[in-house]
Amino acid sequence: MRTRERYRRCASRSWDSDRGVTAQSNIAFLWRPEVQSLPAYQAGASIDSVRAKYGLEHVTKLASNENPFGASPQAVRALHSSLGQLGRYPDPACTMLRGAIEQLTGICANRIIVGNGSEALIEMICLAVLSAGDRVVTMTPCFGLHEIFPSMMGAIVDKVPVSDLLEFDLPAWRAALGRRAKLVLFGNPSNPVGCCLSAAQLQTLIDCTPADALIVVDEAYYEYAVGAGYADSIDILSAQNRPWMVLRTLSKAYGLAGLRVGYALTSDSALVAALGKVGTPFSVNSVAQVAGLAALRDTAHLKAVVEATRLERTRLETDIAALNHQHRWGLRVAPSRANFLFIETGRSSARLADQLMRRGVIIKPWLETGFDTSIRVTVGTAVENRHFLDALVDVLESTRSDVKAESQVLL
Ligand SMILES: *Cc1c(COP(=O)(O)O)cnc(C)c1O
Repeated sequence: MRTRERYRRCASRSWDSDRGVTAQSNIAFLWRPEVQSLPAYQAGASIDSVRAKYGLEHVTKLASNENPFGASPQAVRALHSSLGQLGRYPDPACTMLRGAIEQLTGICANRIIVGNGSEALIEMICLAVLSAGDRVVTMTPCFGLHEIFPSMMGAIVDKVPVSDLLEFDLPAWRAALGRRAKLVLFGNPSNPVGCCLSAAQLQTLIDCTPADALIVVDEAYYEYAVGAGYADSIDILSAQNRPWMVLRTLSKAYGLAGLRVGYALTSDSALVAALGKVGTPFSVNSVAQVAGLAALRDTAHLKAVVEATRLERTRLETDIAALNHQHRWGLRVAPSRANFLFIETGRSSARLADQLMRRGVIIKPWLETGFDTSIRVTVGTAVENRHFLDALVDVLESTRSDVKAESQVLL
């Protein structure tokens, strides 16, 4: 069918049937080849949709690593006070925020860029750096966008698997970095596993990386992980004569996921300038800038949130271990320094997620090849974690009797 004819048909059909739906499926000829094969990011179900679908009153969402304790009250107050300025464009340079980040990190403001979430910064890095055929090294399992944005540019993404112990596999990284690469991108702590690089391991990884590759360390969970045994990446990378970036966000420990503020600390102000060219100029809205500044200043709130989360994480790990032992489920929980746990369950993660959802608990089934029997569970409040544990016992014990009943029928 000729393109014009195809377009006329789908365009007209879109008006007399359900608008948009038919049209979208028929205009695939418009997309770049890279986009045609691009997987959509899986954001998961919302609390409201699960409530409505299953007629549940109490729904617990532990699927997106959100901070259940919420934002600093000072950030919320600052947000309210900024609403009178909504008619004005925001400061495209995020001057105040960058000043506060300079104070926090010791990196000069001209080497800092703020983005509409660190996701937007990952996209801008890919837009600025990658051409079709360029090689990117990341890990598996990985944060979806570490693969999706490079793939969008037509880059070749090599994913280094975690070790059997669910840790960074340094020999495998060394092998992967032995070849030419344009970009090396990974989370520390990793998402979804939660494993971390020590200073010595990060140094090894850097030493193996080709000198002309850009190293990007995504530290979305830095505030939860920082402390003994966790690499001070700024310190280590600053001693290198090579390009690097460290990404952080206000979406996790600062509790501002809904506002979209992330930032990058970079080796060179030229990186900031290059990213500025491919981003939209007013991407960080004025309310986010004002609230973000107040959130960064409220160190007491951050400290309380991080302490509470670490406590709940330990408790959740202990409770899962005890139940696992008691019921012999065969679960394996990866050691985590972040606000989530990665659990190898030995059964379909999609099915398990669905069964938990019917009981009002939303978690993230990992669907990546090789890891589709694992789930990622965000550390919630004590009440939320209890809800998850109760639902887990219910699902695993009721499916166990299903299995027994089936085998009895077979006998
Ligand atoms: C949550 C997360 C992000 C997203 O951060 P935003 O600032 O909300 O865009 C980035 N990287 C990783 C690894 C994450 O887990």
